Amino acid sequence: MPATSVVDGFWGAVGRTPLIRLKRASEATGCEILGKAEFMNPGGSVKDRAALGILQDAVERGLLTPGQPGTIVEGTAGNTGIGIALAANAMGWKSIIVVPHTQAKEKLDYLRMIGADLRLVDPKPFADPGNYVHVSRRLAEEMGAVWANQFDNLANAAAHAATTGPEIWEQTGGRVDAFTCACGTGGTLAGVARALKSRRKNIRIVLADPGGSGLYSWVKTGEVKGEGNSITEGIGQAARAPGNLASARELIDDAVQVQDPEMLEQVFDLQMHEGISVGGSAGLNVAAAIRVARDLGPGHTVVTMLCDGAARYQSKLFNPEFLRARGLPTPPWME
Ligand code: PMP
Repeated sequence: MPATSVVDGFWGAVGRTPLIRLKRASEATGCEILGKAEFMNPGGSVKDRAALGILQDAVERGLLTPGQPGTIVEGTAGNTGIGIALAANAMGWKSIIVVPHTQAKEKLDYLRMIGADLRLVDPKPFADPGNYVHVSRRLAEEMGAVWANQFDNLANAAAHAATTGPEIWEQTGGRVDAFTCACGTGGTLAGVARALKSRRKNIRIVLADPGGSGLYSWVKTGEVKGEGNSITEGIGQAARAPGNLASARELIDDAVQVQDPEMLEQVFDLQMHEGISVGGSAGLNVAAAIRVARDLGPGHTVVTMLCDGAARYQSKLFNPEFLRARGLPTPPWME
């Protein structure tokens, strides 16, 4: 859509994000490394797209009606909750957002600020009934509310297949050799993979996974094996491949694993040398894109996602004390 178009509120403003050429990553590899600026969505992250797709689907199925009372419940690392709460505000609905209290304080404050009914829970493994996903499902059932269910609701991947993927294709004029990104639900990877591979079969789709997540081994061996110890938020799974990710299993060609120090190096580098201030998953994605580009060799185009902005993680990724306590590199200009 041209920049001159007028759109309606939050629902109209999601998507159509710029694709940014990352100069240092491109120069280092001899490839074009391009980052999709999802931090420019109105709720500040890639998850605005999933939130909107899920809510549009709920409207189509008659579960919610714009302007009529309605309640949506979701379990989230924060970003999906922010997208849902803002989209709900725009339609006159309530949102109840269940988040593990270990997620960055900035995201929790943001959810409170935008009027979400925030329910903090202890972090629990997926097998435990106290896990945030199960808590959100039970809450929705008890209240007769809509459960967004971003992990297994395929409206999530469908939103990326309908918007993110086609945007990347158009923005690159079809000159895209590989796409890589990390997965929380897998909605982004699955949807983009479907859109790109339907246009060109030999595009390489690579899952990027933080250290300690079990999705890397899932791609490599079919088995999810991970104990989860990365400081990144919203990505990686220790227990299972969510339905959205699993829906694209046959489209994923490979996986790379990126440890926290390499992720942080990219976060710091992008901010201080390119003026692109992003969160941990974006740093990890760029690190993965560099590896994929080196693998392909010079002259190729690799696209990845810049999922959200750094301000959401100031108390962690830019907090020397937090990082030092974990033996991780600190931002040198902040020492
Ligand atoms: N990055 C961030 C910051 C996120 O919050 C999420 C989702 N929780 C992702 C990446 C992963 O996106 P997806 O759920 O589409 O796999």
